[in-house]
Amino acid sequence: TISNAAKELSIDAYVIGGYVRDHLLNRGVPKDIDIVAIGSGIELAHKVASKLPGSSDVSVFKNFGTAMVKHKDIEIEFVGARKESYHRDSRKPVVEDGSLEDDQKRRDFTINALAISLNQDDYGNLLDPFNGVADLKIKLIRTPLDPNITYSDDPLRMMRAIRFATQLNFTIHPDSLKAITDNKSRIKIISNERIVDELHKILASQKPSIGFSILHKSGLLKYILPELLALEGIEEVEGQRHKDNFWHTLEVVDNIAENTDNVWLRWAALLHDIGKAPTKKFDKKIGWTFHAHEFIGAKMVYKLFKRLRLPLNDKMKFVQKMVLMSSRPIVLSEDFVTDSAVRRLIFDAGEHVEDLMTLCEADITTKNPKKQRKYKN
Ligand code: ATP
Repeated sequence: TISNAAKELSIDAYVIGGYVRDHLLNRGVPKDIDIVAIGSGIELAHKVASKLPGSSDVSVFKNFGTAMVKHKDIEIEFVGARKESYHRDSRKPVVEDGSLEDDQKRRDFTINALAISLNQDDYGNLLDPFNGVADLKIKLIRTPLDPNITYSDDPLRMMRAIRFATQLNFTIHPDSLKAITDNKSRIKIISNERIVDELHKILASQKPSIGFSILHKSGLLKYILPELLALEGIEEVEGQRHKDNFWHTLEVVDNIAENTDNVWLRWAALLHDIGKAPTKKFDKKIGWTFHAHEFIGAKMVYKLFKRLRLPLNDKMKFVQKMVLMSSRPIVLSEDFVTDSAVRRLIFDAGEHVEDLMTLCEADITTKNPKKQRKYKN
């Protein structure tokens, strides 16, 4: 249909980006299709919608020169091929019409710059000017242009690189990793909503520790989740050491990820020890302590959710409760759950995930009745 519509309008059209990448990777049927038109993407969108059987919605975003056709479950996004240039203080480019290759050049990674022709004379041809197919084969994230320029122009791409590396289990090219490290402070111009979108995707991946290790290695973590970075390191006093709570946290997150797809449980695993950095003390009698870290941690969850503009609703309360439960002896209504049992639940939630969720619905009070206090935000 798209091919015929494009022919009638004498516009060349190509499928581009994630659809082509996922198709070549056999990653199931993608929901979104991106089409680039050498001409008006909006005009092509209207033509396609008029040809599709049944009704289709067309949404036009005039300012961006794009249009979206929603047909059944599929969203088809149309854009006119463009050339982009950037100002230093914004990730919004100056846009002008361009060729297919100009459009492929503005893409973030070689694996996202692949296009398939929908035109009569070369229908189905793969257009791969930056060797994206080779990078798919060797599982490499690489930018079409100088990575310093790519990441500086739009620092969100640093998060996207790390997200794709995590989702696809790909390596980031050393030059790219260096450029991310060098440009890390530019992440400041990206909105928290965008950053959180990528964090969600990292957490939703099969092995989230891949992403958090790269965030750590590149130095981006300091700008995004300093509370987590503060957990790194092992101190020794009088021959006594404590564990490295940052790397321990990543193990817990991977473990939870093996057992549940619930992204909020994964957030809870990520944040379950964040109160440990500000509460860490060495006591001559008992050694290292993190007294009341779960209460401090739950407060930090609230602040962190607020800062990152994560929803301050029942999801946040759920994460707070999980943090509270992660290592504190607690009383759940009539039933006492021991310290170690709760900790085990968090560690290897496994088959107990559902129980854990139910427990989180209950009110939590501390074990010692004298000290009993309900936790409030
Ligand atoms: P997914 O749907 O899994 O997020 P995707 O590749 O489809 O993957 P989108 O965010 O939908 O990701 O972007 C579609 C395409 O647009 C990408 O494949 C890429 O070519 C291009 N793109 C998206 N964001 C950027 C960006 N910040 N810089 C350059 N190109 C981008």
